Amino acid sequence: MDTLKLQRDKDHPDDGLRICVNGVSFREIVRKHEAAFAQAEGSPNVAGAYSELSPPSVATSLRGKPNEHDLENDQLGRITLLECECGAPGCWPLLMTISIGPSRVVWSDFEQPHRRGKWSYNGFGPFTFDSAEYEQALRNIEDIRLGPSAPSPSEHWLVVVFHRGFRDGANGRDRLEIPLGGSVEPTVPSPPRNLHADPDHDTWRLGYLTGWRMGASDRQLSGVDEPGACGLIREVGERMVLDLLRNSGLIGDRRP
Ligand SMILES: [Zn+2]
Repeated sequence: MDTLKLQRDKDHPDDGLRICVNGVSFREIVRKHEAAFAQAEGSPNVAGAYSELSPPSVATSLRGKPNEHDLENDQLGRITLLECECGAPGCWPLLMTISIGPSRVVWSDFEQPHRRGKWSYNGFGPFTFDSAEYEQALRNIEDIRLGPSAPSPSEHWLVVVFHRGFRDGANGRDRLEIPLGGSVEPTVPSPPRNLHADPDHDTWRLGYLTGWRMGASDRQLSGVDEPGACGLIREVGERMVLDLLRNSGLIGDRRP
């Protein structure tokens, strides 16, 4: 059985969360495996050229759900565990499959999509964890909050999903050439396929409806320098999203 530990750098709390497997940084484990492939193509430095994800993204991805990095790429079924050093979603992600069972959690099926068919991860993993210990490691990071009013990782994730819906709703309305502020109600399409069940689906729908009603589309935004000055809304503030989610019963009340 493998062991998982998640560590935050106390001196750099905004940095990604370090994922340690069997006491070793997972990024280092990956680097060792990729070294021979990177060497063979003459760029040894690309081996393990990853950065760690933020605590909310790690909490989401390690539960086998897509995180904000996965919403931007089309890697159905696989989730992003590490991202490019530059931080841009999809730029250089390490993907894997997570299967979460009642007694075991297994990480397998690793891939660097930009080296598909070239870099082999055969024999790398699978990594198998005890489900209870794994869940405890995740709970420990979920207790970390940046302040009393900062959203928890799961709330943060729903804000990300809401904004994705908001964009989709604003763009969906604009594609039909329905003007902003009109009275036409949308036919809400199915949520993106890489969103799992509820509350993600309902959150995305709420974002879609809100974006349809008040959001400026990407096309409208692309033509202006200062959206606010033109009365265009790109997205709504996190606090307002959390209030909307709370009023809709999608997240619980958090009273001191
Ligand atoms: Zn990059």
